[in-house]
Amino acid sequence: MPKFLVLVALIIGLLASDVSAQETSSPAVDQTIENRLDAVLNAANTETSLAQLTEIRDDLTDDTPILTRVRTLSYIALDYAYLGDYEKAYAQIDEVRRIAERSGLADAHAEVEATALLIVAMQGKISEAMANLNDALIPLEKAQIPRVKYFVNNLAAYLYRQRSQFDRALEHLIYAADAVAETDDSRTLIRLISTKLQIANLYTQQKNYDLAIEQLDDAEKLATENDLMDQLGTEIMMQRAYVESNKDNFDTALGIYEQLRQRLQGNPDQLNNYLTVLNNMGDVDIRIGRYEDAKAVLQEAYAIAKLNPRQYNPEVIYFNLGYVDVFLGEVEKGLSEMRDVVETAREAWPPSEFEGLLGEYAEALVHVNLLNEAIEVLLEQRRLREEAYKGDQQKSIAELQNLYDSKDKAMQIELLSQKNELNQQLIENESQKRTILTLFVVVALFAMILVVLLYRAARRSNRELKVANSMLAEQSVRDPLTGLLNRRALQDKLRAPHKVAHDAMLLLDVDHFKRINDNLGHAAGDDVLIEVSKRLLQVSRDSDLVVRWGGEEFLIYLTNTEQSKLPGMAKRMLDVIGSTPIKSGDREIWITATAGFISYPFADLQENQMGWEDTLQLADMVLYAGKVHGRNQAWGVMALNKPFAEVQNLLETDLPGAIEQDAISVEIIHGPEQAKDA
Ligand code: GH3
Ligand code: MG
Ligand code: MG
Repeated sequence: MPKFLVLVALIIGLLASDVSAQETSSPAVDQTIENRLDAVLNAANTETSLAQLTEIRDDLTDDTPILTRVRTLSYIALDYAYLGDYEKAYAQIDEVRRIAERSGLADAHAEVEATALLIVAMQGKISEAMANLNDALIPLEKAQIPRVKYFVNNLAAYLYRQRSQFDRALEHLIYAADAVAETDDSRTLIRLISTKLQIANLYTQQKNYDLAIEQLDDAEKLATENDLMDQLGTEIMMQRAYVESNKDNFDTALGIYEQLRQRLQGNPDQLNNYLTVLNNMGDVDIRIGRYEDAKAVLQEAYAIAKLNPRQYNPEVIYFNLGYVDVFLGEVEKGLSEMRDVVETAREAWPPSEFEGLLGEYAEALVHVNLLNEAIEVLLEQRRLREEAYKGDQQKSIAELQNLYDSKDKAMQIELLSQKNELNQQLIENESQKRTILTLFVVVALFAMILVVLLYRAARRSNRELKVANSMLAEQSVRDPLTGLLNRRALQDKLRAPHKVAHDAMLLLDVDHFKRINDNLGHAAGDDVLIEVSKRLLQVSRDSDLVVRWGGEEFLIYLTNTEQSKLPGMAKRMLDVIGSTPIKSGDREIWITATAGFISYPFADLQENQMGWEDTLQLADMVLYAGKVHGRNQAWGVMALNKPFAEVQNLLETDLPGAIEQDAISVEIIHGPEQAKDA
């Protein structure tokens, strides 16, 4: 072609696309995303494609045109189906369908319905897909986007072909080719060529071999001019060889197959095509009587197929090898090989394919004059064909009703629009429901917050109550001035059942305390009491109870204290009180104290003979003796020298008498010298 003409064609092409952009009011798409979606179609495998689609979906915004959105999500649904996850695929379809229905756009409707049909067909439910084909074909009539028209027509052609309605299939393929001619993107050429290949295939099935060759020539020319032979060459050549062999151009066919054999050999992705080529070569060889050649290629194919049974059914080749053996004169071997395959295929193969196998088996039987057997096989084949035909007929009735009755079509349109209104209603109901739900959630949330707040408040007031209670409890056992335990605390403790081992009590009374109050004021008196408390706590152990027994009287209740330690304890008490003056304001007050102490229980007496109060009374009595004998001293009752019953009365009434009569032994400890002088 001269360069000048190419240039003219280009300019016309540009003008044409310009005009179409201005004149038609095609629904909006996002061209950038559409280009990305085109690129996804070249993905190496479904995982990659799905990953790319997921990325694109994440890039969709509220502003993305409906059609681009519908295309993206439809592709995702398809990929789920390719991966075998039909549940996800249909869920995705439902979502896209809602979007399409809300939009009212014919292109969106057509695309989603065609995708749904394709998924149904992928599951092998061709009949169901056929019955619902109008779901896609009705919106297709108003569709404007070439890509959508191409897709839907292609699908329709595929389905019609599955039903052997080749004229209908061809019609839709021609529509598809028209639609491709309207597109102008990276996929345009590939779509155009593959449509031509499909048309060629259809012509071949209709035994229109010359028209098929015409399409293949066209396809090859386009592919060669556009550097697409790498991608599409195999498909074109396979079809061409097949057509040539059917035209009885056996050498041409074998020549093309030989090229294909070189082209595909060793490519694991092309294993299936490679084995098909070898098998078809064997077939051609058989037809022209080159049985040795046939056997060679078929044996090669069989060895490979046996290693890859998932890619290619080795039984097919094994059967053909049997056929070759029969024709090579190894009748018994060949027939038994063929029979083996027939027996397994009867159970495992689809009837339509098994039926073809029977035809060839019968041929071999006829060749060796086993005519009765051949007749039996042919009868079985006829039975299968009749059954398949009946099944097909029933399916066709349902399909025909849906497809060709124009009244029915009109009704379907009506139904569709009703469905649309219904959906609108549903959407409104849905939004109402959502509002109610939202309100409910809000109310529930508030209730929850309230409960939490109340709970917290209750917990806080509980805590406060606890604090108050424990403060009260503290107050009830503590003396407010000195913070020491009060008389009640000790009484509670000793009146409660308790175990007494080697305890002791030391009662201490500040000397001439009244004078401090009188001379220095009540506040100074308080200061003295506070300081005395501190000093008593200093010299007592943690296990001792230091109690403010009365006004200026203190009781130190000692636990686990041997009697021999008591005089030392008493001495330390007197010293800590009397050795240093007490500060009150800027005054220093010197004081002394007098104490009486005694072990409890005293002299191993039982609780009922001499309880803690009686014991304490004895200490009080010796304290009084200390006061009488000059104060600043501690008197300790150290031993009971006579039977208690004998001296009990004496002890309670006349302590000096008891001491004089040696009923008890007493030890006297003196306080610090300094204080006495002051
Ligand atoms: P003795 O050496 O004989 O014990 O003489 P005393 O003055 O210490 O004994 P008395 O029992 O006559 O005096 C005790 C005084 O203690 C009487 C009371 O007014 C005073 N008093 C009691 N409780 C308190 C108090 O909490 N604060 C002050 N400042 N004085 C108190
Ligand atoms: Mg007193
Ligand atoms: Mg006193």
